Amino acid sequence: MSEAPLLAEVVPELAQRLEWTLREQGEPHLAAQVPALRVTEACRCGEPSCGSFWTSPTPMRRWFSRGRQIELLGLPGEVALDVVAGRIAYVEVLHWDEVRAAITNVSLAG
Ligand SMILES: [Zn+2]
Repeated sequence: MSEAPLLAEVVPELAQRLEWTLREQGEPHLAAQVPALRVTEACRCGEPSCGSFWTSPTPMRRWFSRGRQIELLGLPGEVALDVVAGRIAYVEVLHWDEVRAAITNVSLAG
């Protein structure tokens, strides 16, 4: 099994902006995780506007409700993070075409 691709390689712009925005919003510990985030699974909800993806090593949907959600402001699309036990587990991205296209390509390649 090959390792999941780094977010910074799949969508460099999103990785950069996530890192900057998290620092601006007072979340330096989360910002520091961004360079090492890997896209482990694309969201399969099928919504045309959805470019969301998992970054936890083992996607576990039930974590969702127990996580803390952080909305990121000032980005081209609607972006929110789900943080579980202090780790970024899921990145919700809506209405950001470049991200959706890149994430879709990753899931096809896998
Ligand atoms: Zn989705």
